[in-house]
Amino acid sequence: MKYVAAVDVGGTSIKAALVSSDFEIIDTATAPTPKGDSTGIETSRAIAELVFSFELKRPVSAIGLAVPGALDEPAGTSRWSGNLGWKNVPIRDLVAKETKKPVAFGHDVRTGMVAEMRKGAAQGFQHSIFIPIGTGIAAALVIDGEIRSSDGYAGEIGHVNVGHDRLCVCGKHGCLEAISSAHSIGESYKEISGKSATSEEIFNLAKNGDATALKVWEDAIHYLAVACEQLITILSPEAIVFGGGVSVVGDELLVPLKKKLDERLTFQRVPQLLIAHYGSQAGTIGCAMLALDAASIA
Ligand SMILES: [Zn+2]
Repeated sequence: MKYVAAVDVGGTSIKAALVSSDFEIIDTATAPTPKGDSTGIETSRAIAELVFSFELKRPVSAIGLAVPGALDEPAGTSRWSGNLGWKNVPIRDLVAKETKKPVAFGHDVRTGMVAEMRKGAAQGFQHSIFIPIGTGIAAALVIDGEIRSSDGYAGEIGHVNVGHDRLCVCGKHGCLEAISSAHSIGESYKEISGKSATSEEIFNLAKNGDATALKVWEDAIHYLAVACEQLITILSPEAIVFGGGVSVVGDELLVPLKKKLDERLTFQRVPQLLIAHYGSQAGTIGCAMLALDAASIA
């Protein structure tokens, strides 16, 4: 049995998991993301600490590292990340230097697609899209059986204009992410009701007849349908797989979304709508798969 560390670097925290070669999560650990670390050196040291804490339990053969933002995946660099304050940071090599281990490197959404494509809901499709709906929204695109990212830039479905007037973190109005992400669902509900709640709690309130929660939830699904229609028209996937926090409601998301898409699609191929097999763990499992690949060739 081999063991690898799957590491997801987010804007507020670094989440790490010790994963076995049969994809069992043995242990998890979290550390705050160092603030103002424009060189990535502090972050690579924090990652090394997490990996070394795992090594007290199991030998770690390799690391799978997932980072948000615009990446140059072959070069192992973060071109830009607004949340991390990074510009051209060679994070893969920094982590390799600190840990002296092989490091596989990828975008946080595309690593999730690796898991879904190899062993999850997107298995067997030549053309599919993975959309985790969490704090933000982005898409991983599988075309002709391969994950395509156009040099690391493609898939930013969260920032297409779906036709509302809310302001997005990117500075524009009307972005999908500004109305349908878990974060935005919570914000919208708070603006009207004055109360804080998670997207799942808002879903439950909507089910129990709370009119504000219902409106917020329905808006989120409506605009998700608008964005999916655009994706389907341009890319014609056989399946769209939803992950992240908002997808935990399962059919309660898929059924109304399918109904809206059935009304909107005319000539397009109608894709299957599915929930991620690995749920919110897709990114972790995908990172572990990439790390195991790296361990086997190191
Ligand atoms: Zn935006």
